[in-house]
Amino acid sequence: GNGRHDLASGSPDLLRSGRQDGTVTSSILWFRRDLRLGDHPALLAAGDEGPVLPVFVLDEALWAASGRPRQAFLLRSLRALDADLRRHGPGLVIRRGLPEEVLPELADEVAAAAVHVTADFAPYGAARDERVARALGDVPLVRTGSPYAVAPGRLSTGAGQPYKVYTPFSKAWVDHGWRAPAASDPAAVDWVGAPVDELPEEPELVGVMLPEAGETAALARWDEFKGTPYDDVRDRPDLDETSRLSTYLRWGAIHPRTLLADLDARHPHERTFRKELAWREFHAHVLHHWPDSARDYYKPELKGLPYVTGRELDERLGAWADGRTGYPIVDAGMRQLLGEGWMHNRVRMIVASFLVKDLHVEWTHGARHFMRHLVDGDLASNQHNWQWVAGCGTDAAPYFRIFNPTTQGERFDPDSTYVRRWLPELGTDDYPAPIVDHAEQRAATLEAYQHLRGQR
Ligand code: FAD
Repeated sequence: GNGRHDLASGSPDLLRSGRQDGTVTSSILWFRRDLRLGDHPALLAAGDEGPVLPVFVLDEALWAASGRPRQAFLLRSLRALDADLRRHGPGLVIRRGLPEEVLPELADEVAAAAVHVTADFAPYGAARDERVARALGDVPLVRTGSPYAVAPGRLSTGAGQPYKVYTPFSKAWVDHGWRAPAASDPAAVDWVGAPVDELPEEPELVGVMLPEAGETAALARWDEFKGTPYDDVRDRPDLDETSRLSTYLRWGAIHPRTLLADLDARHPHERTFRKELAWREFHAHVLHHWPDSARDYYKPELKGLPYVTGRELDERLGAWADGRTGYPIVDAGMRQLLGEGWMHNRVRMIVASFLVKDLHVEWTHGARHFMRHLVDGDLASNQHNWQWVAGCGTDAAPYFRIFNPTTQGERFDPDSTYVRRWLPELGTDDYPAPIVDHAEQRAATLEAYQHLRGQR
């Protein structure tokens, strides 16, 4: 199609915002972190208005800030989305550049009546969308749906304040409930096309295994996972039986409501997995209300703790990032991050605690490294989990709770299956001695904390 169709049953909106010459203009569906076609409220909204032009804008700023695994996974996700769209129309329109320049150009090119999106609540996305909305002028940016079961900002305490603690938030979240999945049907949409920019080359990945990208893979992963006795296995990196849906949720290859609807129907008594999804929503809620917490201490009281700087910082951060600390569970986790763009949750907590409380490196450095390498890297979940471990986040993660990397390994990887999987040199001369003594560092950390408290 060419984006212009006879007006048969155009909505009043289209008449108002479209051309006056008796043709229906298409609207644009701008994909961002919602790379799927099912359970897609914005797709439903766009399709209801007439022909739809599906577009993804490769934002050069975000692209440059991403590590190779993230770049590769995004490209594969876009190819999967394109293949899914081609079963119903001309496929995904890729444009490269700044969204606030590309979208007004494209809207002009196809005389679009509106640009439809899934609302983005993260600081970068929200600011970008404001810029785009302004640049679009008379063409409305229509936000429908969110990447969450309950959109950030929706829930507040009885006193009208945003929740600051997880447990009451999660109760309110369950009480609020969620809508049924959106009945978006790509076969029912009149898809139109436009000229496409080339995607960048996929970066070369050496020794990196990524999950298969795309909506079909996400749904298959969910099918395979559901019914797993999650409670029994979730803390065991050696068993590796968590859902691994975080990457798909991050890119919107699947919507959390799809999962919740399925659980409600088939496993109504399952609680723990729902609680984990609620953590994801809680962190998005906190970041929405306190956008500075992406960079800054949520609880500023801990800002004054002493952290290493200069060469010492570089050396310690380097040893940690490469998996050369001499603590097997820490090193295995850091190698898994490099090898899969993903790390088991239990191990994320252990390596984060180790960086902050054993190596005395400020949490922001670790969070940045994670964001660069995690394919599921999500600003809200990442920064707030880091802050939680560092003791400066929401909820009572007491600062003096310091993970012991040795006993954690014994408890959650009892046969050393996990560490041997990632550290082939373990037990040989090539494996380094511990770079610090845990007991000593633990004592130093507690002393610094007491000192800081004494000053207040
Ligand atoms: P499952 O155990 O199968 O859980 C199901 C889903 O629940 C996950 O996919 C995820 O969406 C959600 N979830 C589970 N635990 C958490 C949690 N603690 N916080 C928020 N959501 C949760 N998760 C991210 O999605 N992106 C991140 O960037 C991220 N950074 C983290 C950094 C640190 C330091 C820590 C300790 C945790 C981080 N997490 C992050 C949370 C958690 O580790 C991952 O969501 C989880 O390991 C993903 O694996 P899974 O899909 O198999 O999880």
